[in-house]
Amino acid sequence: MVQRIAIVEQILNANDLLAQENRRRLDEQGVVAINMMASPGAGKTSLILRTIEALAGQLRLAVVEGDTAPVTIDADKISAQGVLAVQINTGGDCHLDAVMFQAALPQFDLKQLDLLIVENVGNLICPASFQLGTHCNVLIASVPEGDDKPYKYPNIYRGVDALIINKIDLLPYVPFDMDYFRRGVEALNPGLAVFPLSCRTGEGLEAWTAWLAAQARRQRA
Ligand code: MG
Ligand code: ZN
Repeated sequence: MVQRIAIVEQILNANDLLAQENRRRLDEQGVVAINMMASPGAGKTSLILRTIEALAGQLRLAVVEGDTAPVTIDADKISAQGVLAVQINTGGDCHLDAVMFQAALPQFDLKQLDLLIVENVGNLICPASFQLGTHCNVLIASVPEGDDKPYKYPNIYRGVDALIINKIDLLPYVPFDMDYFRRGVEALNPGLAVFPLSCRTGEGLEAWTAWLAAQARRQRA
């Protein structure tokens, strides 16, 4: 048991070193990268599409799509908006790591980019442990998943720089106690930037895209 823990720690340390290398490379080229994490179906791709709509006029964007299967459903939707999407097929693996992200970077002309959005594999557990070298980690929760998720998956809530609460248009139809949910978040990550929104109706999107654009500007300054 002790031996097994030591090996896991070594893997994570090696990953962190590579993540630092990735970060240095992005910084050198003036690119800000964000890592979007969520459970399957929370709306990662929908939010990326909405974000592209809002920011494509002010920032040069590209997307890394993490998928466990070699289907290009999400990457195709992004390409259809005229934005380069590079897919990482993890071959069944349940998260992206710094090695995979590093392998994707040469596919982009980084000098020509301002913001690189990474859609991680849909999973609330291990993406939290594998840094990629991105500047911001963003978690997308959604109303139909239930209000108990911060209590059940505390690690991912602890490590993020912003939280989206998607699908707020469903609040009248599903039991979701917003106060209970937000108390759980606040206990884990005090002062976290939280953006309740609906990708479907567009409500609340502007606060998120303004925050993201400000992050991109601040990191590049
Ligand atoms: Mg997706
Ligand atoms: Zn995993």
